[in-house]
Amino acid sequence: MKEKLLLIPGPSPVHPRIIHALAQPTVSHVGPEMVEELPKALANLKKIVFCERGEAFIIAGAGTLAMEMALLNTVAPGDKVLVVSQGYFGRRMAEICQSFGLDHELLESSWGSAVTPDELKKRLAIRDFQAVISTHVDTATGACAPIHEYADALENRNALFILDGVCATGGVEERMDDWGIDVILTAAQKCFGAPPGLALLILSERAMEKRRRMKQIPAYYSDLLRWLPIMKEPARYFSTPCVNEIRAFYESTLIVLEEGLEKRFLRHQRSARAIREGLEALGFSLSTEKRFLADTLSVIGYPDGVEDKRFRALYSENGVVVAGGLADTAGRVFRMGHMGNLSSSQIDFALNALEQTLKTIGYDFEPGAARRAAKAILGN
Ligand code: PMP
Repeated sequence: MKEKLLLIPGPSPVHPRIIHALAQPTVSHVGPEMVEELPKALANLKKIVFCERGEAFIIAGAGTLAMEMALLNTVAPGDKVLVVSQGYFGRRMAEICQSFGLDHELLESSWGSAVTPDELKKRLAIRDFQAVISTHVDTATGACAPIHEYADALENRNALFILDGVCATGGVEERMDDWGIDVILTAAQKCFGAPPGLALLILSERAMEKRRRMKQIPAYYSDLLRWLPIMKEPARYFSTPCVNEIRAFYESTLIVLEEGLEKRFLRHQRSARAIREGLEALGFSLSTEKRFLADTLSVIGYPDGVEDKRFRALYSENGVVVAGGLADTAGRVFRMGHMGNLSSSQIDFALNALEQTLKTIGYDFEPGAARRAAKAILGN
């Protein structure tokens, strides 16, 4: 099977070390390997979001389960929720609120932009909320919200701050304790570069207290208080954890921490810049507002003469898989992920394959321009 470079905005390419961990024989979910590795994976997850206090959870499921669990475990009947959205996944959060009959309001920006801290402050001045939820990076629009400033706007308020970090955690800074984030929900398949299949949550002490005060919630598998004893003592049973994925995720956290968080965040910034300057050198445009550009993916507009479906099909034949636009942007843009453990040589391969693709299409460009622009940023 010919392996293609997966540059969709998640799942991202899985490092051979992580594949190797995934491919180990399945072990007992209550056996010594899990007893040793699950707590280490949880401790690493907390380190990655700069959380010293609070509790971490690793549960079989995807990011959407983590979104649902964050809400069900921290929002009580009668609470008012503010969903701050810059696109597709904020809307999804509002839909989940609706599914569970939670009283919520949506504060939304246009696509490609993000809600400003001032807009958030204005809304907070009008009404009291018990929870404020925001998406860090919206995977449909490529916009990164100013999370630190949102957190500042929420300081000294009673609202819990819940962050969807699915397309950011492990690639973009999220300082849970320092900034005052109460819940980070995320998933394994994006900036961790692990295979899909895990919902990840980290809750502050304040968020855990809230869960305890709520007593019964309308959830069983999604009830974090049922999972807490397993996270503390994996030899106990509640529901079978997916052991192979957990071992693979653990390996991914080791890679993150070996690289070092500051270095990793800087590498994500550099990769984003290199890819964007490469694409711009070929006549592509960025569809996200400059001040909100995310480090983890780019949403890229086509120049005249490059048609979406044909471009993506040929690019895939040349070894690189990218994603199409979502909703209104379908056909007008493509989305390229640059997160996880992507190396400079993989970026160079992707830009070379892109130039080959444009040549086949008959698009006029300066050969080598993209690779040169990227190399100037990445070095050799
Ligand atoms: N939130 C964000 C920001 C995402 O990018 C995604 C996945 N693209 C999700 C939530 C949902 O995650 P999943 O597809 O794993 O359910």
